[in-house]
Amino acid sequence: MKTIDVQTGRPYKIYIDRGIMNMAGSYIREVSDAIRAVIVSDSNVAPFYADRVAASLREYGFETSLFVFEAGEERKRLSVIEKMYEHFYEHNITRTDIVVALGGGVTGDMTGFAAATYLRGIDFVQIPTTLLSQVDSSVGGKTGVDLPSGKNLVGAFWQPVTVLIDPETLSTLPKKYMNDGMGEIIKYGCIKSPSLFEKLEKENAFDIIDDIIYECVCIKRDVVVNDERDRGERAILNFGHTFGHAIEKLGGYSSVSHGEAVALGSLLITGITENKGITEEGTTDRILSLLKKYDMPYKSEYTIHQILEATRGDKKSSGKGLNFIFLREIGTCFINRISFDKFVEFFG
Ligand code: MG
Repeated sequence: MKTIDVQTGRPYKIYIDRGIMNMAGSYIREVSDAIRAVIVSDSNVAPFYADRVAASLREYGFETSLFVFEAGEERKRLSVIEKMYEHFYEHNITRTDIVVALGGGVTGDMTGFAAATYLRGIDFVQIPTTLLSQVDSSVGGKTGVDLPSGKNLVGAFWQPVTVLIDPETLSTLPKKYMNDGMGEIIKYGCIKSPSLFEKLEKENAFDIIDDIIYECVCIKRDVVVNDERDRGERAILNFGHTFGHAIEKLGGYSSVSHGEAVALGSLLITGITENKGITEEGTTDRILSLLKKYDMPYKSEYTIHQILEATRGDKKSSGKGLNFIFLREIGTCFINRISFDKFVEFFG
């Protein structure tokens, strides 16, 4: 069992352990006096895990109910949130009750948002079941939904009261979902940890995935506690993301997963900065080798011009430019702002 303390405005603990899901009730009871607990999950995850989480919650005195929505990023909408609120209302959820997000990033983001806003805020727990949500989205308190005009445009910062990570859930995940997480794992090595990056190079990450998750969560925790509201340093977590978002958008959010797009974006931006002498020579090759090693996509089907065009709509654009994260070398990065009128000059 590994425990990580997160000293945000509302401090909480993250636990990583195989089988922890079966003891969810015990961990949640430690942080909650709630009478009722709502488990929120999607149609892919609920059949596997909802019963055992509910059983454990009941063992610790919670009255449980289950809200299931149809799986898919296209469900990350206010219409589903409204149904969630109705479920809360019908099940007499009060301000002292608790909501449990059981699933991947979409489930965590939506449940967190519903919890942040229902009765002006009730407690929630994250039980992430995908690699991406375990290393990334369940940590840091960003919650929200998509609008027809763009992803994550509506949301709130709302920290969970605890996060329970059970790496056992990864054993049944399809390859594409593992890639989704691996893109973000490689990112953590790139921005903050040469030793994590070397570990990914030398060993098979999937043989030591519990340790890898732990290291990634620690890195994210460190960044988030310094900048909970995403006004400064937290931007480094967006390494590879500006081009990544563009690649996802160009692919209609279906051909490449988020993590795959981030990996492609990391490779692309580092290729450019290495060429300009900003990044240590050989860095791009190291990233490329990792992508090949983990059977990730490493060729984007779009030209740099298509990608640059698509980045202009990025929600992280403020005013007349965008913040890019550049590597000095593996493990060291910095934020660099480029105005739109310098785009062509810089990226060629
Ligand atoms: Mg990401």
